Amino acid sequence: MYDIVIIGGGAAGLCAALYAGRAKLNVLVIEKYNITGSQIIYANEVDNYLGIPSVTGFELASKFREHASKEAEFKEGEVKNIKKDNNRFTITLADGKNIESKTVIIATGAVHNKLGVKGEEELTGKGVSYCATCDGAFYRGKNVVVAGGGDTALSEALYLSNICKKVYLLHRRSELRGSKAYQDKIKTTENIEFIGNAAIDEIKGDAHVSALVYHDKETGSQRELSIDGVFIAIGMKPDTDIVKDIVSMDEYGYIIAGEDGKTSVDGLFVAGDIRKKNLRQLITAVSDGANCAASVEKYLNSED
Ligand SMILES: Cc1cc2nc3c(=O)[nH]c(=O)nc-3n(C[C@H](O)[C@H](O)[C@H](O)COP(=O)(O)OP(=O)(O)OC[C@H]3O[C@@H](n4cnc5c(N)ncnc54)[C@H](O)[C@@H]3O)c2cc1C
Repeated sequence: MYDIVIIGGGAAGLCAALYAGRAKLNVLVIEKYNITGSQIIYANEVDNYLGIPSVTGFELASKFREHASKEAEFKEGEVKNIKKDNNRFTITLADGKNIESKTVIIATGAVHNKLGVKGEEELTGKGVSYCATCDGAFYRGKNVVVAGGGDTALSEALYLSNICKKVYLLHRRSELRGSKAYQDKIKTTENIEFIGNAAIDEIKGDAHVSALVYHDKETGSQRELSIDGVFIAIGMKPDTDIVKDIVSMDEYGYIIAGEDGKTSVDGLFVAGDIRKKNLRQLITAVSDGANCAASVEKYLNSED
């Protein structure tokens, strides 16, 4: 029986493991990928993690894993189900094995929705990005597209308008969906051009993005924009399937918890991108992990 099982070996899970191990708790991290997990491995360059500038995502994730490995046991496997009975959790893996624990931290992350167009996958990290806060600074003085029409897309377009020469905001509907305040600001920002009814057909480029092709959904006419980057902001999907029947979530499927990571289920904690919060970044994920480990320690002490 473990004191704590952490599901997900990304930034949040690994930081929770480090803190919990140092607190002398008996910790197991379950990660579905073998060497190193975390979606940050898809980032060509991370330049906003305090103290470690200009590092590849893979290098940073490997350092996280190496550090956490000093304090915790790891198991490769995909968790399929979590059940709580008599104050104990049973975690079931894809191969049918069960693992018992007094507490669980779920840190399974959230994935960005994809456009699903030609060039998107091949050019991810080479001009295709899902995060303006992460990558915007690489596009200073350049031309970019933001794809999407909700609050995230609008706020990313406004953020990029301070950095880039020109921002094309492409949305598949004729009207934007984001808040009125954002829409008003978009209209008065000179270097943002809103293009409605735009269906994106292809992202072009060899080593790096060089153009984007879209068509007007009403007229069918096609246009090619010469650009250096594409920021896709069409929502995220939190990886919460394994706990969806037991824990409280918001309307988008993010698990509801405060900074302490406590969920609606006693002994079940949440850290990282799958928690309802404002900013989904490495720095907030590791901070969640540390907070969660401290909460688990308190919880276990109060149980004795
Ligand atoms: C391309 C890209 C670039 C980015 N660039 C930056 C950047 O420059 N700066 C920045 O701060 N942030 C950046 N981010 C965001 C950052 O990666 C996330 O905010 C951060 O990784 C969240 O950490 P997490 O631990 O919550 O989730 P993740 O890092 O996504 O880790 C979740 C882990 O859980 C595992 N998992 C999921 N389900 C299961 C299961 N059922 N069983 C077992 N394991 C499971 C996954 O395999 C994964 O390893 C970027 C994201 C992407 C995609």
